Amino acid sequence: MIKFIISKIKKVIYPDPESEKAIMGSVVYCIHHKEGCQWSDELRKLKAHLNTCKHDAVLCAAHCGAMIPRVLMQDHLRYTCPRRRANCEHCHTEFSGSALEEHQGNCGHEPIYCENKCGAKVQRRHTQQHLQQHCSKRLVPCRHCGQKYTQDTVCAHGEGCARAPVPCPQRCAAPVPRDLLDAHLRDHCTAAALPCSFRDAGCRFKGSRQAVERHTEESCAQHLCLVSAVAARQARQLDALRAAVARLSLNCTGALVWRIADWTAKMAEAKCKDGVELVSPAFYTSQYGYKLQASLFLNGNGAGESTHMSVYIKILPGEYDALLRWPFAHTVSFTLFDQSSSPDRACNIVESFVPDPTWKNFQRPSKEPDALGFGFPRFVSHEMLKKRNFVKDDIMFLRVKVDPSKIVAV
Ligand SMILES: [Zn+2]
Ligand SMILES: [Zn+2]
Ligand SMILES: [Zn+2]
Ligand SMILES: [Zn+2]
Ligand SMILES: [Zn+2]
Ligand SMILES: [Zn+2]
Ligand SMILES: [Zn+2]
Repeated sequence: MIKFIISKIKKVIYPDPESEKAIMGSVVYCIHHKEGCQWSDELRKLKAHLNTCKHDAVLCAAHCGAMIPRVLMQDHLRYTCPRRRANCEHCHTEFSGSALEEHQGNCGHEPIYCENKCGAKVQRRHTQQHLQQHCSKRLVPCRHCGQKYTQDTVCAHGEGCARAPVPCPQRCAAPVPRDLLDAHLRDHCTAAALPCSFRDAGCRFKGSRQAVERHTEESCAQHLCLVSAVAARQARQLDALRAAVARLSLNCTGALVWRIADWTAKMAEAKCKDGVELVSPAFYTSQYGYKLQASLFLNGNGAGESTHMSVYIKILPGEYDALLRWPFAHTVSFTLFDQSSSPDRACNIVESFVPDPTWKNFQRPSKEPDALGFGFPRFVSHEMLKKRNFVKDDIMFLRVKVDPSKIVAV
């Protein structure tokens, strides 16, 4: 404001030296009074003051072109002047201010974190070398299998790597890749104690491959003995199995339906030969019961010879006879089936008896099967056989039933 006044005054009242003198003698504040300069004196001394006023702006001493209050010049020169001189804190090179700003972020000496996030801090100029040679996250090949792993996991992988060599457990010379160990022990190991190939037959020999080969050549007779013993043992087992199967397939129901096929031929044979006897499969009255067998004379025997068909029951020596009651006292019935096509009109022939306890045949049988049975010499006459369908399609069915009840059908 005062400058303005001065210039106005100069223009307007310069011609009056007295007035100017008066104005120049008036007391004013420094133009930087508001910024904090306390100077106050006659106006004519202001110019001289401004030459030293620390708040007055002057050209930057480093010639950057900026006007800087004297009081801020040192800060400007040190920190903000683009032409200031400064050292990079990392490489300590001296730069002008603007060059330093460009340099920051590129300084090769500045430590920065590894881009692989291994956690290491390395100088920017060394990052390539770090990534290639030292970084714990760099990929390196497993030296056994060639697969790539980060450097900090490759060791752990190597311990379990399938291709890593392991010492042979039989302590032969060479280490073997882990995944080939089984094959090595089986086929190649020079120290393995291999079993003789007749081990399953009972040979206990063990040795290296060569020893086993030699042993096999030398032990033919011994091996044959072993194999033959095995065969004998297996034959005994087969017998036992057959017996078990036979036991399981036994008829233990106390009833037998006896199917007599080729009836005509059998009858013809019975007529021209004496005493032709057909015998049924054996059957049991129960699982641990009496063992029985039916016998049939198509052309009859005894009182029925040549005129009747005779039928008998025989008691065979059984496994459980020692535990059974003797004499045998079960009711026995024989049924000859009429195979008429309409079951309503079928007329079966049934004969049964309760054993006579005094009859020798019902005592416990000896080991020799008894030739004698007990039954009906005149069971069905030949006349009767022709009348109905007792033989159909050359087949006859005869049921033999044994039970502890005393009911007798006639
Ligand atoms: Zn001042
Ligand atoms: Zn400057
Ligand atoms: Zn630097
Ligand atoms: Zn790294
Ligand atoms: Zn590997
Ligand atoms: Zn080995
Ligand atoms: Zn052997």
